[in-house]
Amino acid sequence: MLCKHCGTEIADKAIICFRCGAGTTDPVRQAAPLKRRGNPLLSFVTVVLLLLLALYLGQASASADAPDRLQTVAGLLVGAAIMILILRVARRRR
Ligand SMILES: [Zn+2]
Repeated sequence: MLCKHCGTEIADKAIICFRCGAGTTDPVRQAAPLKRRGNPLLSFVTVVLLLLLALYLGQASASADAPDRLQTVAGLLVGAAIMILILRVARRRR
């Protein structure tokens, strides 16, 4: 067969052209499935980081001058982490 990119004659089973390196298969088909999903790992990491930060603040509040304020922030972070988890589950079920 002939390379779609440069027109060089290449083997029928070749995956890429030996001369220009262009793929012989349709590039549109290969790229499509990767883009559809969001990044599940990113939101998971975000939740873990929020929980770790909340844990840290909770422990730091024991020796801090204003423990109430730190505990409030820690509570907000836990709440945010739970919200993200709920949103993830809701999105996945659709
Ligand atoms: Zn080529």
